[in-house]
Amino acid sequence: MNIAVFSTKSYDRRFLDDANASRGYAIDYFEPRLTAQTAPLAEGYPVVCAFVNDHLDAQVLDHLAANGTRMIALRSAGFNNVDLARADELGLIVARVPAYSPHAVAEHTVGMILSLNRRITRAYNRVREGNFALDGLMGFVMRGRTVGVVGTGQIGAATAEILLGFGCRIIASDPYPSDELRSKGIEYVDLDRVFTDASIITLHCPLTQDTQHMIDQTAIDKMQPGVMLINTSRGGLLDTRAVIEGLKDGKIGHLGMDVYEEEENLFFQDLSDRVIQDDVFARLLTFPNVLITGHQAFFTEEALTTIAETTLENISAFDHGQTVPNTVTSARIVSG
Ligand code: NAD
Repeated sequence: MNIAVFSTKSYDRRFLDDANASRGYAIDYFEPRLTAQTAPLAEGYPVVCAFVNDHLDAQVLDHLAANGTRMIALRSAGFNNVDLARADELGLIVARVPAYSPHAVAEHTVGMILSLNRRITRAYNRVREGNFALDGLMGFVMRGRTVGVVGTGQIGAATAEILLGFGCRIIASDPYPSDELRSKGIEYVDLDRVFTDASIITLHCPLTQDTQHMIDQTAIDKMQPGVMLINTSRGGLLDTRAVIEGLKDGKIGHLGMDVYEEEENLFFQDLSDRVIQDDVFARLLTFPNVLITGHQAFFTEEALTTIAETTLENISAFDHGQTVPNTVTSARIVSG
């Protein structure tokens, strides 16, 4: 069974090779992202393995299916980059890695909250220049603060549990509330109450048609002055232009982002010698109270091991004609 892996970095190769050692699949690694231009590279491969910024739109899926591909093995939990309706029509199996250490993303989320609150990156730069002044570094105590968690699936739940340990009050919004989290003291409220009551809001729901730009001007207007907003989920949850306006007028006091709606042209590459052409992103970089990381929240040994293992388990089931675990279909999106 031949597998074409797109968006390959050295670490993908290392962990996939380890997971494949006992299986012996013929894996070919391609550095480029999967797009309409690069799809011909996948011709003749029954399995195409893709990551978060690969384009699996109808045009690409049509090309893959017409040239022998029968399975898309996503190395991610999110599948917003796949036209699932078209995949279903073409009979393509799409499998994902539903959980690859939710704790990795939750811990990074909390790291962003603490860094922004206590201005740790600013302090780091100051101290290196011999500036030990404290002006501009004042934070707040987390204990007793109200944190709003939007989406209490695996990552949202793990984040909420860490923050409970800090003594925060957690309010949450999710169409499917968890009794287990309720029993731990998390209060479910509607999304508007999260916007109005929380001084920190952290997003952990998937990107769908319903959640696209859930943080827009109207939502920001409802929030507390100086609110801290954290997005480690998917960039499209934020209307970035509205968020920039919120930062300019001080309504948003802190912004932490590990994802960005136009990240596919930026993230996972070394662009340090180039001029950034994305003016919206460049504007975000000018704010002292904005912390951006380049989609690294998952990036731990544990997560990469699980991604590689689960991806090859999904492929192995397909190879052996078994029911493929962790599949996603358009019907599943409709049912949530
Ligand atoms: P999950 O499926 O376990 O949980 C998602 C939760 O969101 C579910 O409980 C669902 O009911 C809820 N939800 C759906 N629509 C909602 C809405 N409109 N409002 C509130 N809640 C809603 O997923 P997960 O594993 O917790 O991952 C969450 C997201 O994190 C993924 O969709 C993915 O986009 C992102 N992610 C980011 C990274 C990273 O490295 N930054 C890594 C993995 C996942």
